[in-house]
Amino acid sequence: MQKWGEKPYRSLDFHLRELFGEKIYKVSLNGGMTCPNRDGTLGSHGCIFCSAGGSGDFAADRTLSIREQIESQKKALQGKKPVKRYIAYFQAYTNTYAPADYLEKIFTEAITHPDIAALSIGTRPDCLGPDVLELLGRLNQIKPVWVELGLQTIHPNTARLIRRGYELSCFDQAVLQLRRLHIDVIVHTILGLPGEGTAQVLETISYLNRAGIQGIKLHLLHILKGTELAGLYKTGGCSVMTLEEYVDLILLCLEHLSPEITIHRLTGDGPKDLLLAPLWSSKKRTVLNTIHQELKIKSTWQGRLYLQESI
Ligand code: SF4
Repeated sequence: MQKWGEKPYRSLDFHLRELFGEKIYKVSLNGGMTCPNRDGTLGSHGCIFCSAGGSGDFAADRTLSIREQIESQKKALQGKKPVKRYIAYFQAYTNTYAPADYLEKIFTEAITHPDIAALSIGTRPDCLGPDVLELLGRLNQIKPVWVELGLQTIHPNTARLIRRGYELSCFDQAVLQLRRLHIDVIVHTILGLPGEGTAQVLETISYLNRAGIQGIKLHLLHILKGTELAGLYKTGGCSVMTLEEYVDLILLCLEHLSPEITIHRLTGDGPKDLLLAPLWSSKKRTVLNTIHQELKIKSTWQGRLYLQESI
């Protein structure tokens, strides 16, 4: 087993200490953008699991400037933790869905802030035109730039069902272009999507092992109020996992993941006021503790089965 500090997987915390020599926290920013899946370009209802906040329910107030957002989030964090530097995380909606000159203005405001160590931009692979890529490449020369892509699954039927709105080949192309610019790619996946079981999830993991990505967020499927998924759930069209099922699946994902890929998330915590199910997921600390306990009990680690498969 590799050595990643106290955890049997390559955690984000470990990666950040390796990269910056200290603990770094994220400030969640709002660039005031929307998403082609919501503004009528590709659709107007969004992905079926996405809340009105566009997956950015924890982001700062969009009416503030970027510098003001950073300062307000810093204040909130400093009350709780001794923090010196931060990652500017553009989280809400699709954060490259705007003209490149506007993106340049807000990203530059963030990346040149003296307390910002890196930029992380959540977006879709079909919103990375040549001008945006050129900008990201330039910003990546100033400080590290990470791009987070919401893939969720590699399976076309599920992608259609959740209304993702782009093909897997578009994701592959985006990863290739970002890697040419030496930009780190972090991929979001959702475990427990309707119609997907263990086999489909592990196929996504195995695909991502070969995709050349640097990080992964493993999200649990949440049912949030006001989403189309909530309607499906109420009529019995989909179900959610128990904590035990989720922990088993997470362990399998970790065992099959390449030890080179950093784990940015092992669960998700949907906003409590919007969460319909599974309610156990609102106790994030308990979920993480259970995962860590099970890893210990089973004496297993990230890449255990990946390494066997690659021999
Ligand atoms: S692409 Fe992202 S922001 Fe847009 S609808 Fe889907 S999950 Fe929401």
